[in-house]
This record gives sequence, C-alpha cells and structure tokens, in this order.
Amino acid sequence: MDIVERVLITEEEIQTRVRELGQAISQDYGDKPIALICILKGGLMFLCDLAKHITSPVTYDFMSVSSYGDATQSSGVVRITKDLEESIEGKHVIIVEDIIDTGLTLSYLLNNLRSRNPASLRICTLLNKPSNRKVEIPVDYVGFEVPNAFLVGYGLDFRQLYRNIPYIFIPKPKYYQDEID
Ligand code: 5GP
Repeated sequence: MDIVERVLITEEEIQTRVRELGQAISQDYGDKPIALICILKGGLMFLCDLAKHITSPVTYDFMSVSSYGDATQSSGVVRITKDLEESIEGKHVIIVEDIIDTGLTLSYLLNNLRSRNPASLRICTLLNKPSNRKVEIPVDYVGFEVPNAFLVGYGLDFRQLYRNIPYIFIPKPKYYQDEID
C-alpha cells in the first residue's frame, strides 16, 4: 500500500506477542472468570486474537468513548457513547485497549469503572507510548512499547480506515500532514 512508510510491527510479531499475553493472563487468573472489556473500535482486533489464547473462562463486553477536542490532541474530556451491557460489580475485569498515548482516556475510564465496584480491575494494552503520557496509568499487560509516532493498522485507524490491516505501520506524512498542521 502506498500509504505505508514503514512497517513497525509485523503480523507475526503481533501474533506471537498476543499469544504470550494470553498465556500470562491465563496463568494469573487460573480458573477465575474474567470479564474482558473491549474499548471500541480500536481494541476489537486485539480482543479477538487475545481471547483465543486465554484459557480462563471469559466473557466480553464493549464500550465506546469519544474524546472532545481536535483529531490529533486528546483533551481528556471523554464521553461514553456506548456503555457496557452487563454489570461488572464483583467481577475480575480487564480493559482491553489498542494504545495508551496521553493516558487521559483510560484515566477517565478507570475512574468510571472503579465506581462500579469490580472485584479487580486491570489494563491490557497492545501498544504503549509512554513518552507522551500526561497522567500516570497502572498498566498491567503491555504488548509493545512504541515510539511517539502516529501509528495505523491492527485496530488503529487513519480516518476510520486501515483498522483491518494485520500489521502496524507508520504512514507517509503526506497523507496526514494536513491534520497536524
Ligand atoms: P489517550 O487518551 O491515551 O491519549 O488516547 C488513546 C486513544 O487515542 C487510543 O485509544 C486511540 O484511539 C488514539 N490514538 C493514540 N495514539 C494513536 C496512534 O498512534 N494512532 C491512532 N490511529 N490512534 C491513536
């Protein structure tokens, strides 16, 4: 694809790491049921692959959030556009997220979900961009630490496109320059 400047993480690397994360989660939880909460839409690919490698009993539910502010700057003011269908009270919850950047979205979500009294609450993110963090987030499972670049693929979109691409790439700047100028 012309838009690809460089593949940062290949499909094989993602699949290997996701399997390892699934195994680590299974070891930690054993026979305890886990309520996986996928943050749409970016977390969907990751959830599907991750869940296949978890041997503990799992349920999953979905949440959608939208961040106020412009396209490239997270404002931290978050609105829930789709809420969970099931109560998480007394459950062992893992939030499944595509990427943590500033941490503002997850900080809001953590407070919101904590107030619903889960038995435990952990975070599993495929990608972590620690260099851009604005609030501290306790991340329990991380797939890859990534540099502070705009990334696309495997759930991450560019204008809602390319979420289906099975690897993660850095797009050519000419494609998104207008948005960051
Ligand atoms: P935060 O609140 O941590 O700054 O934002 C997290 C959200 O911003 C992610 O769930 C994702 O939707 C979006 N995001 C952060 N970094 C990237 C990136 O490099 N590429 C894409 N496509 N989205 C990103």
